[in-house]
Amino acid sequence: MKSYNSFEVAQQQVVEAARLLNLDTPTCDLLMWPQREFKFTMPVKMENGRVHVFHGYRVQYNTARGPAKGGIRFHPDETFDTIRALAGWMTWKTAVVDLPLGGGKGGVVCDPRTLSERELEAVSRAYVRAVAHYIGVDKDVPAPDVYTNPQTMAWMMDEFETIKGVHQPGVLTDKPRQIGGTEGRRDATARGGVITVREACKAFGIDPQSGSYAIQGFGNAGQRAALLHHELLGGGKLIAVCDSRGGILNENGLNPKELVTHKLKTGSVVGFPGAKEIPRDSVLELDVQVLYPAALENAINEHNASKIKARVVCELANGPTTPEADLILHHNGIHVIPDILASAGGVTVSYFEMVQDQYSYFWDEATVHRRLDEKITKAYHTVREAMEDKRVHPRLAAMVVGVARVAEACKLRGWV
Ligand code: GLU
Repeated sequence: MKSYNSFEVAQQQVVEAARLLNLDTPTCDLLMWPQREFKFTMPVKMENGRVHVFHGYRVQYNTARGPAKGGIRFHPDETFDTIRALAGWMTWKTAVVDLPLGGGKGGVVCDPRTLSERELEAVSRAYVRAVAHYIGVDKDVPAPDVYTNPQTMAWMMDEFETIKGVHQPGVLTDKPRQIGGTEGRRDATARGGVITVREACKAFGIDPQSGSYAIQGFGNAGQRAALLHHELLGGGKLIAVCDSRGGILNENGLNPKELVTHKLKTGSVVGFPGAKEIPRDSVLELDVQVLYPAALENAINEHNASKIKARVVCELANGPTTPEADLILHHNGIHVIPDILASAGGVTVSYFEMVQDQYSYFWDEATVHRRLDEKITKAYHTVREAMEDKRVHPRLAAMVVGVARVAEACKLRGWV
């Protein structure tokens, strides 16, 4: 199977958007590359008494619209280029939802499933020691991503404040609520995605209450989407789900709440009572109304794109669809809500968390939900307008919106 370099894919997307926008060569050259990037080693003493040297990355892709913003991933397959691609996508994502932020991403090459709690804490603190002078509320604000969570953020914030000798909770977002986190952050990515599905259903005359949905990947975003699709759209039947251990199917419907409980208890969706086991990847190919890819990059590619039967694909993962697959899905009349729009709810509520931390004054959950809904709904329709205006598929339309806003900021600053 063809292997993809996500950064090359991401750069190609910039080139295409720049061409549609008639951007000049220096602007395009600037936007194709990260503004600043860090690569470091982190020696950590492990439980067995030996030192293991971890490799870490942080990429600040563009800060023309505000401080860099984006998650930190702990993943064994992490590469510099993946982080570059993801940092770029964060830049266009924050611009699509019109947040006063730039884009960034970080990562550690490690398999958190093999690390003890104490080792995870040590890696998290070592990461912050490596980047402490380059992050901050006015520079770069990390958050969780794949295999990191509010506890990771709590350790990281504590390390940062200890090094700097300041109280600055807004340096990281999606913290536990007791130490500066916001209401509504944990389900924000999925909530934003389901809001885009709601708007897509309205636009295409689809009735979500009578349809079914499937979820590929059952981490934070996937689990919350399972619950929220049903809750926010007033119905819909979840029929299939997979995680890294396998897939499950029940044509009569899986109970989202019980499934989440089962996952939390056993560590997997596999073995859920009443469901039959199916190959992991076949979850993508089922006859459903809405499909949520919520795992990693390149899941939908030229090999399986033509087998996808969903009416709407809502990308909760970052970069789940390759460029070849995008064209196939578009050609087959499938409405893809691209990652930089569909998964923008997380960073939107992260931004709300930064604002609240700055004022030390916190909003109630209903306020967070209402403001998130406004932002995402507006962004969805801006992207739809760009689709019609430029006659392009949704991802390119979203890129056009994001790239245009970042290019304008670079121009106003006199960078290009
Ligand atoms: N990791 C999330 C994303 O990819 C959230 C980033 C953030 O909140 O800064 O959008």
